Amino acid sequence: VKAVQHAVHGGPEVLELVDLADPVPRPGEVVVEVRAAGVNRLDLLQREGPPLLPGFRLPHIPGMDIAGEVVEVGDGVDPALVGRRVVVKAGVACGACAACRAGDDRACANPTTIGGNRPGGYAERCAVPGSHVFPIPEGVGDVEAAAVPTACVTAWRSLVGTARLRPGEQVVIHGAGSAVSVLAIQIAKHLGARVIVTSRSPAKLARALELGADVGIDETRPDAAEAVLEATGGGADVVFNHVGPAVFELSLRSLRREGRLVVCGTTTGAEVRLRLPTVYHLGIEILGAKVQSHADFGPMLEECWRSGFRSVIDSVFELAAAADAHVRLESGEVFGKVVLVP
Ligand SMILES: [Zn+2]
Repeated sequence: VKAVQHAVHGGPEVLELVDLADPVPRPGEVVVEVRAAGVNRLDLLQREGPPLLPGFRLPHIPGMDIAGEVVEVGDGVDPALVGRRVVVKAGVACGACAACRAGDDRACANPTTIGGNRPGGYAERCAVPGSHVFPIPEGVGDVEAAAVPTACVTAWRSLVGTARLRPGEQVVIHGAGSAVSVLAIQIAKHLGARVIVTSRSPAKLARALELGADVGIDETRPDAAEAVLEATGGGADVVFNHVGPAVFELSLRSLRREGRLVVCGTTTGAEVRLRLPTVYHLGIEILGAKVQSHADFGPMLEECWRSGFRSVIDSVFELAAAADAHVRLESGEVFGKVVLVP
């Protein structure tokens, strides 16, 4: 099979198209013929190095978001899966540690990530656990489907699992153009919340409004925080910051008293400055997005399909042009998902 990997860390040019032996399913695994693979920030960060995930090894085949067709099953997997169109859940619990044996896969001591620290979807075929493939409904294309899993998990576990966003609440979502925000906007509206988006780009704000956001605020305005306070009548109940330090101060200043800030993601870095009195004078809760259990993934995905959430595709590249796809995502001009097709 053809695959794209990198054997060293560096710029997009280190991605190389290679010929590898066909993956063979081990017991419990299936082989998916990849029809589309989403490009994620993690792919760029780990290509650049140092790798973020423990156990990362070079050469590495990135690609956490896979849509395709099951073409082969290993021992112990239902052969009826062959021929099914599926997306793949990237996070894999080890199944053997004390937490896994106690039924708490969220606390797995040795989790792995398909495309993160084991071979991913930048390939014509990929072997994955049979328990990690989920059907794509009719009417949803492979490219659209590949845009969903990681973005949906990130947005869902933040807004639903962690912030517990409720009907009638107001939520600020930063970084209007990202694939995570595209789903977060739709999830928040689905939950009955009022959505305020921020971005550096007027064009992205306009598109976020088309997706259902209620208010768009240019985050480069010196009075952006005041604009949020005005738009929300005194501050948001919830702020979702998956961008990191670039908007952390704006996140804090956008909250009402006793508001919740949920953080997840380090696109603009990993460290922030925090004035402690701001936190305790206002009684703010700063929440790390909780890990989702394996059992919650399928129902989440079904609700996502059933609710008609739309993926937005920024651009599609041939597998061999993976480097161009990385340049595109790095450009900061993206609205929605960048997808590779083998
Ligand atoms: Zn485990």
